[in-house]
Amino acid sequence: MADGTPKPRPKPFSIPRQPMPEQPPQVRVGNFREVPFGLTPDLAILEATRCIQCKNPQCVKGCPVSVQIPEFIDLVAKGKFIEAARKIKETNALPAVCGRVCPQEEQCEMPCVLGKKGEPVAIGRLERFVADFERVTGNVEIPGIGAPTGKRVAVVGAGPAGLTVAGDLVQIGHDVTIFEALHKPGGVLMYGIPEFRLPKEIVQAEVEYIRNLGAKLECNSVIGKSITIDELLGEEGFDAVFVGTGAGLPYFMNIPGENLIGVYSANEYLTRANLMKAYRFPESDTPLNKATNVAVVGGGNVAMDAARTAKRMGAKNVYLVYRRSKKEMPARVEEVHHAEEEGIEFHLLTNPIVYHGDDDSRVTEVECQKMELGEPDASGRRRPVVIKGSEFKLAVDTVIVSIGNGANPLVPSTTPGLDTNKWGNILADQETGKTSKKGVFAGGDIVIGAATVILAMGAGRKAAAAMHEYLKTGAW
Ligand SMILES: Cc1cc2nc3c(=O)[nH]c(=O)nc-3n(C[C@H](O)[C@H](O)[C@H](O)COP(=O)(O)OP(=O)(O)OC[C@H]3O[C@@H](n4cnc5c(N)ncnc54)[C@H](O)[C@@H]3O)c2cc1C
Ligand code: SF4
Repeated sequence: MADGTPKPRPKPFSIPRQPMPEQPPQVRVGNFREVPFGLTPDLAILEATRCIQCKNPQCVKGCPVSVQIPEFIDLVAKGKFIEAARKIKETNALPAVCGRVCPQEEQCEMPCVLGKKGEPVAIGRLERFVADFERVTGNVEIPGIGAPTGKRVAVVGAGPAGLTVAGDLVQIGHDVTIFEALHKPGGVLMYGIPEFRLPKEIVQAEVEYIRNLGAKLECNSVIGKSITIDELLGEEGFDAVFVGTGAGLPYFMNIPGENLIGVYSANEYLTRANLMKAYRFPESDTPLNKATNVAVVGGGNVAMDAARTAKRMGAKNVYLVYRRSKKEMPARVEEVHHAEEEGIEFHLLTNPIVYHGDDDSRVTEVECQKMELGEPDASGRRRPVVIKGSEFKLAVDTVIVSIGNGANPLVPSTTPGLDTNKWGNILADQETGKTSKKGVFAGGDIVIGAATVILAMGAGRKAAAAMHEYLKTGAW
């Protein structure tokens, strides 16, 4: 305005949710670049203006790490992007990651009051925008660190749970060392979630932030092999240990032919593609089978990631084979939508029963049977029931089995006194992360089974608070 008075804000309810510009499907299947481009500053301000700044914000209750959502959105609406990023970082050290991969539609955005009559505020997109803005403009700032406490903490596993514990404890003044089995930190963020959903450069920038806070990192350290938890607490002189080793043990269906060449677990396939950058082979030294017809078995986010990766690796046909209907698919709606747009062929109500191979033991066909839905099972979803005589075959040269993951067994099996449940998950108090062994805390997928980034981070935050208390008082 000519007189310098600020423009009046438009009425929140009159503004539609701002769409996220993204690569068109026919272009993006030919590259590994990120699919959405992110909001522009103008779009972010407009989207933030939609928030009505609730006095009792339901969105915050839906966030496992209690990000102060209305406060950060208000800062975005005022164009104070750096301040908004810092507000988020008070409770979340990985905002650029969470803004990309959190299932916001089930968490902060689900209870947003705007969603009752229209579409909720795009909280995740705004989180991503401010985190990117802070990083790209070189404004990442290290907050004040507490005076050294003299206490040493070992964190086992550099996934979201371990990184959160490390970030929280190092800021208080504890001396923290993270031990990571792989050659790069980040856990599933590095080896599982594909580059086109979560660029690895962004994960490493957020890990770097935690290192800059003062956390030490030792990669290529397999705890339970190179050194045990008891040794960490004994001769290595650590006062407490956090175990965040995740759920990286792939499940198979135990059907004939799973040992054929060309049958992968999603873990192996995605690790080769992401962490080892098979899409850049031979520039990177890890290849993947050159595939034309790929069957991906499963209906979760991991299956969608595997299918979309196979397409980008050059497969002509990618079949998603899932035994229930689309309604029961555990994958995020957005992921299913992206997969469909990219030409993934869904074979729903279909179950593989045997993989056939050639004389060289290479997979050539997957034999399936059709299913129909019966009564609900223990999970509340309708149970798939076999339709007799419905067997058929799909010609394939690669199969990616993506039916879930179990707990990594190494730490529990080498740590006497650390109790687990029948699936091998470490038993830990949900509020404190305390395990059956004094001084040992645990959280994330190793405790609750394969779940989400933000739940792992939420568990990490709770465990960090309880560990601080333990380090102060010694009371167990
Ligand atoms: C392909 C895929 C896609 C996903 N997509 C999403 C998504 O879009 N949104 C979402 O919210 N969640 C998603 N998830 C789930 C999410 O990534 C996990 O729930 C989350 O990463 C769990 O965090 P964590 O820290 O418990 O374990 P992890 O991320 O598994 O990290 C555990 C770390 O511990 C290390 N480790 C294991 N054993 C040892 C040992 N003995 N010594 C030292 N280090 C060890 C591992 O190498 C790893 O780095 C996805 C998972 C997969 C596999
Ligand atoms: S519930 Fe929605 S409108 Fe209310 S403060 Fe949270 S984001 Fe804003």
